Amino acid sequence: MPIYAYKCPNGHRFDALMPLDKRNDPQVCQECGKVAERQLTSVPTTFKFADEKYKGHADPAYLAVLAFISLFFFWLAANGG
Ligand SMILES: [Zn+2]
Repeated sequence: MPIYAYKCPNGHRFDALMPLDKRNDPQVCQECGKVAERQLTSVPTTFKFADEKYKGHADPAYLAVLAFISLFFFWLAANGG
């Protein structure tokens, strides 16, 4: 499942693993209980996640996969995902 970033009105940020069809559902901030809105900043989070997983394997195939993943998420963002 993709990781989505949320931010509540009080500025608390958190990430949540959400199925694609639930990504627009409201999330409750665990710090203050306010409804948090999804941020379009899931690309860096996912990128970092992949980077941690493949640390030290910067071969061309890996870089191609990273490029594909980032293009996919940019496409999602551009299409309102
Ligand atoms: Zn909060």
